[in-house]
Amino acid sequence: MRVYYDRDADLNLIKSKKVSIIGYGSQGFAHANNLKESGVEEVVVGLRPGSTSTAKVEAAGLTVMDIEEAARFGDVVMMLTPDELQRQLYADVLHGSMKEGAALAFAHGLNIHFRLIEPRPDLDVFMVAPKGPGHTVRSEYQRGGGVPCLLALASDPSGNAKEIGLSYASGIGGGRAGIIETSFREEVETDLFGEQVKLIVDLMYEGGIANMRYSISNTAEYGDYTRGPRVIDEGTRERMKTILADIQNGRFTTEWMTENVAGQASFKAMRARAAEHPLEEVGERLRAMMPWITEARLVDRSKN
Ligand code: NDP
Ligand code: MG
Ligand code: MG
Repeated sequence: MRVYYDRDADLNLIKSKKVSIIGYGSQGFAHANNLKESGVEEVVVGLRPGSTSTAKVEAAGLTVMDIEEAARFGDVVMMLTPDELQRQLYADVLHGSMKEGAALAFAHGLNIHFRLIEPRPDLDVFMVAPKGPGHTVRSEYQRGGGVPCLLALASDPSGNAKEIGLSYASGIGGGRAGIIETSFREEVETDLFGEQVKLIVDLMYEGGIANMRYSISNTAEYGDYTRGPRVIDEGTRERMKTILADIQNGRFTTEWMTENVAGQASFKAMRARAAEHPLEEVGERLRAMMPWITEARLVDRSKN
């Protein structure tokens, strides 16, 4: 796993370019504002006609264009509308409007990996996918940090796509935390798997389940509704009930005290095995890149 930092990126590259952010939702808001504050002077936000986000974008001091205008304007066009609408938007607007030799960028690989979008061959195609929701990408940047990003290339006719991607990732703060080089396939599989089978615990911590669902992508939210019940199904609920029963009838306590009478032999063995699990090693590396997770945990413990 290759990890890049700000020192490996040339921020001036993205500063020299016209950057069009399409959409101003969870990610669009964070990318546009972070890039602007990193010194990218020509950042515009492409919005649909009558968008309710227009006033917010203008209040942030950013330029609003309609999407076609933004597509024509950008040397780099970052697609930050919902995944399920990107194919249509590319076909209807971007395909015919983007500049020859421009770069088309994504924050998630689904549409490219599954060939829902087949970009024009003259376009560089890269992904900068922050591993956090937009409000965290923004707030970490504002306090001088950043959210780790995945970087991947799908197409590199200019020969410069990686440099541009690194520079973009650095501009949104990713280079302060770590920019991890990966592939579209790997990002898609790990991202969808992560959001469908694991609870997004830190977001639930912050704002409860409803807020968690608001700040994640529609793709993640749909995966949550449709796949979540296949992870936690009737069988899981039944097993949870037997665990609760064991607590209530004292069986758990009896077992645990007996383990202690035996000098915690099997407890210590299980602890040693758990510490050797590869998840621990990977987890430690990732947590080092995401200090706010550790802080949330510390704050929460202090309440107990
Ligand atoms: P949001 O759902 O928050 O963004 C919605 C934006 O898209 C809004 O500005 C909205 O416009 C605009 N939009 C919606 N429908 C249309 C349409 N028909 N035509 C034009 N614009 C439209 O998206 P996210 O930020 O969640 O996701 C964007 C990308 O980032 C996705 O690829 C996602 O997978 C990826 N991603 C998301 C993460 C997250 O935590 N949310 C994390 C990492 C990657 P309006 O303002 O007018 O309503
Ligand atoms: Mg996702
Ligand atoms: Mg959402």
